[in-house]
Amino acid sequence: MFQKVLETKTVVAGFTNRWGGVSESPYDTLNLALHVGDKREDVLENRRLLAKELGVDQENFVWMNQVHSDKIASVAQSGESLGTDGLITVQPGLALMVLVADCIPILFYDPRQKVIAVAHAGREGSFLNIAGKMILKLQKEYNSNTQDIQVFLGPSIQKDCYRIDQNTIQRFEKRWSKKYIYNETNLDLPLLNQDQLLKVGVKKENIFVSKTCNHCDQNYFSYRRAENNQTGRFAGIVLLKYVSTN
Ligand SMILES: [Zn+2]
Repeated sequence: MFQKVLETKTVVAGFTNRWGGVSESPYDTLNLALHVGDKREDVLENRRLLAKELGVDQENFVWMNQVHSDKIASVAQSGESLGTDGLITVQPGLALMVLVADCIPILFYDPRQKVIAVAHAGREGSFLNIAGKMILKLQKEYNSNTQDIQVFLGPSIQKDCYRIDQNTIQRFEKRWSKKYIYNETNLDLPLLNQDQLLKVGVKKENIFVSKTCNHCDQNYFSYRRAENNQTGRFAGIVLLKYVSTN
């Protein structure tokens, strides 16, 4: 259901896998996305089960209608944020959600400023440097010190599996570097995102990168692995807890 990568007094962060839900094949079982052709009531039940597992009210989830951009929205209430690929909040009680099935779900936490964020870094988001832009926004608008920020890259398609066309290879080589091209045909998105974070001052020891390839590991949904690309989405989640002050 949900694997934690961090839990402190103020925050919980982690990633779901595909088990513990009620959806049927090819969305079996914990599909959290409404837009992929799964039954609406099953997705809503999955979201309810996840909220229960996390010990929160599902009314506190904040979802994105992701569009492969570098747009980042600051939110203060739950619901769905349209046309964005990044979310930031300082509102206790909210759980920020990023949905993926091959793209990288990225979670951010600044323990000093008590600000949390998520980003959806697929091919386009990574090309546009959404991870680096998130850090700059946290610095500029939330007074974050980049040295404080912790970042978690979740299960995603790894370089051995991520074959792309030659036009895209050239685009990435030109904008970024040959360093991110693997075997001349594949792209290493986790490495690129890691470098984008380091470049804006995130400390290496504060960057956690999952080695899990969701394309190889059947415990995760994979858009590329699925027949006719029909599959569910798993989630990266950061939750800012209510902290009692007395
Ligand atoms: Zn793989």
